[in-house]
Amino acid sequence: MIRAGMLKLGAGMLGELLSADRGHRGPRVPCGNGHQAEFISYRDKVIDTVLGPVTLNRAWYHCAECGHGLAPRDAELGVAGTSLSPGLTAMNDKAAAAGPFAGAASMLEDLAGVRLTVKRVERAAEASGAAHAAQARERSALITGRKLVPLPPRHDLDMLYGVIDGTGVPMTARETAGRDGKGDDGRARTREVKLAVFFNQHSLDQDGYPVRDRASSSYIASFETASVFADLVKAEGIRRGADHVRQLTFIGDGAAWIWNLVTGKFPEATQIVDLYHAREHLHSLARSLEFMLLDHYSEWLQARLEDLDYGYIDGIEAAVREYPLQGARKTEVDKELGYFLNNAPRMRYRWFRQCGLFVGSGVVEAGCKNIVGQRLKQAGMHWTTDGADAIIALRCREASSQWEAICNTSHTQTRPA
Ligand SMILES: [Zn+2]
Repeated sequence: MIRAGMLKLGAGMLGELLSADRGHRGPRVPCGNGHQAEFISYRDKVIDTVLGPVTLNRAWYHCAECGHGLAPRDAELGVAGTSLSPGLTAMNDKAAAAGPFAGAASMLEDLAGVRLTVKRVERAAEASGAAHAAQARERSALITGRKLVPLPPRHDLDMLYGVIDGTGVPMTARETAGRDGKGDDGRARTREVKLAVFFNQHSLDQDGYPVRDRASSSYIASFETASVFADLVKAEGIRRGADHVRQLTFIGDGAAWIWNLVTGKFPEATQIVDLYHAREHLHSLARSLEFMLLDHYSEWLQARLEDLDYGYIDGIEAAVREYPLQGARKTEVDKELGYFLNNAPRMRYRWFRQCGLFVGSGVVEAGCKNIVGQRLKQAGMHWTTDGADAIIALRCREASSQWEAICNTSHTQTRPA
């Protein structure tokens, strides 16, 4: 009761405050398209705020040439074209990024005492996410064009990692129409979203394993092609100080697009195939030889896992070549072995470990699961590309928020004169 009373009181105060300036900016104001819009009258607009609905009475102008109206006060308050206040928008973004829209609506009501329909929660979150994604793309273009120059990072920044991965998001039938895929009828059910996370590492734990710096992760994601995504990753790398660190490392699974991207955009970086992915491939290599290995299977696999830990890919190849194969079996085994041969320089795990580097991408696995899986791959969910893109953008922003709060204040970047 007290909270409800306080909210009501607050909404009343806010209404009074806002009506202190009714937004009359003279008889004419620029319409935004090069004309002058004329003052018509004062009109009411109800905006939903964190304190509840508040009625705003503000000056309304109309442009005869464009045939559209505007209120300068709306733009000043950040409610032009929306009926949610910036404060409530931020709250709504958080709730809608965290879980399904219906749950977000009831969470807002339960925790904040604000009632919004599920459709409004969805629309507002998607609009915010789309705006955030557009802003990120714009910033990235400025950075890669060297029109926006991030200041160098902290002077003691030593190691920067980039981890890149892709994962499928379930799509509505309309979104995937005409795309080939893995479904029973040959139609795609998902679209791949590409994801990158950057983080720093400076210390090792008691057992000598690297530890990720707290609050140092920033995430980007996109449904775009690998070449468009590459520019986003490049910009984020520059922003994170890739040009300044002593050791730049990229971790990924074996996917060719990832290594093409890294080689093209960060030729100086150390490339590492995620050890856990490599182990999985070793298990399937062993399975494809199981009919020959028989009783030796476990023992053979164990020895090869040890080879892998040493980065001894020649040893794995020699052990496989001991079994002369033909036909389909040979094709299968060669394919599995090819993964190791193609990536051998990225699998020098013993050396990487001696350098104190991460060799497993637990970070990106966690990243993909957290950013994409938990929110977008729940049972029965089907997305449009725009909807998924917007919600993923919100989740990336949320996951990057600690790093942004520390590092992305206005004084850490500058435009050249
Ligand atoms: Zn106009």
